[in-house]
Amino acid sequence: MDFRLTKEQDKIKQTIKDFADKEIAPLCTKYDELQEIPAGMIARCREMGLFGLLAPKEYGGKGVDSLTLIVAIEEISKVSASVGVMLSVQNSLVIYPIMQFGTRKQKEKYLPKLASGEIIGCLGLTEADAGSDAAAIKTTARRTGDLYLVKGGKMFITNGHISDLMITFAKTKPDAGSKGISCFILEKSMDGFESGKKLDKMGIRMSDTTPVILNNVPVPRDNLLGDLNNGFTITMDTLNRSRLGIAAQALGIAQAALDESLTYSKKRVQFGKTISEFQAIQWMLAEVATNLRAARLSVYDAAWRIDNDLPFIMEASMAKLLASKIAVEAADRAVQIHGGYGLLKSFKVERLYRDAKVTEIYEGTSEIQKLLIARHLIGKKLS
Ligand SMILES: Cc1cc2nc3c(=O)[nH]c(=O)nc-3n(C[C@H](O)[C@H](O)[C@H](O)COP(=O)(O)OP(=O)(O)OC[C@H]3O[C@@H](n4cnc5c(N)ncnc54)[C@H](O)[C@@H]3O)c2cc1C
Repeated sequence: MDFRLTKEQDKIKQTIKDFADKEIAPLCTKYDELQEIPAGMIARCREMGLFGLLAPKEYGGKGVDSLTLIVAIEEISKVSASVGVMLSVQNSLVIYPIMQFGTRKQKEKYLPKLASGEIIGCLGLTEADAGSDAAAIKTTARRTGDLYLVKGGKMFITNGHISDLMITFAKTKPDAGSKGISCFILEKSMDGFESGKKLDKMGIRMSDTTPVILNNVPVPRDNLLGDLNNGFTITMDTLNRSRLGIAAQALGIAQAALDESLTYSKKRVQFGKTISEFQAIQWMLAEVATNLRAARLSVYDAAWRIDNDLPFIMEASMAKLLASKIAVEAADRAVQIHGGYGLLKSFKVERLYRDAKVTEIYEGTSEIQKLLIARHLIGKKLS
């Protein structure tokens, strides 16, 4: 096992670092406050091919492997976790399921535009009454002729405002639990599709999150993704992989928190010494650096397992659990090390503190990761 990056991975990492430092970092405070992502930033991500990292080259994407995607999301998240999640959703929650489960026609229709970033996507699973218990969704898809009428509502949809299409899940056999769910590709231009008002959030404020209202959206039968009533399998397969993108986002946040802590502690003088000379501060730095290293190895290992066709589901859950925990811990310690200045919006650690929390919540909460890991350990099949 060798996690040294290849020349190509290193080049992608460096290119993203330069882009993020020069073009994203200066805008983060302003747009975090405004709670929006500037159109120019989306355009630059498009130009750099970041929306289509995972899409196969034959469809105009970069065709990178899982480890490269992880490195890219981590790098961008060091500067902006919001941009990190926007790109992670496009690649892992939208492009991946179409690549994996789409018909030739669906791939030809959607992948080139998703790969170029001409269209942006989102994934709508969560509903007001169905979060961790995804099989409890109430949205239905009723067949009439060559159409399905999709009726219901989704909650907390990342990219909800900026996206042009949504991979969504609806009950096609309402009494069959998880075995009665199907997956559809919905276009925003379809009648009855409405993105709700942006949710006012504590963290990742540049990433838009909205409810989506589906008022009998007429979806052509051709837009059924995968087999009828097999949508839950698509959800699980997609989330099992995509949660590594959130783990990578968490690594980026944690690394940024550690970097800020190091820089500040070496400058701030109290009692005639830089605070980095105090053992209490050194212990915080050492613990964060150690836990971050362990989390990074765990995340890279899980991605490497995907790329080498090895079992990875439990390892990906462990990686997400560890990385999100260290992101929250690193951001907390960073604010502590900054003292009162850590609470000021002009200091990056204030945003990191707010951004870190969501990594323990979306794409499976930490409690759900523990449940998944335990079920793997004791060999229970997931329902
Ligand atoms: C900013 C943001 C962006 C999001 N983006 C998307 C998106 O793009 N698409 C999408 O579909 N969803 C998205 N989500 C939704 C996210 O995936 C859910 O919030 C998450 O799965 C948890 O669901 P919930 O919020 O309903 O919490 P609940 O499921 O109600 O959980 C509440 C608490 O109970 C715990 N809990 C629940 N069940 C169990 C159990 N069996 N054992 C132990 N503890 C349990 C949870 O861990 C949690 O602590 C997003 C959420 C946020 C906040």
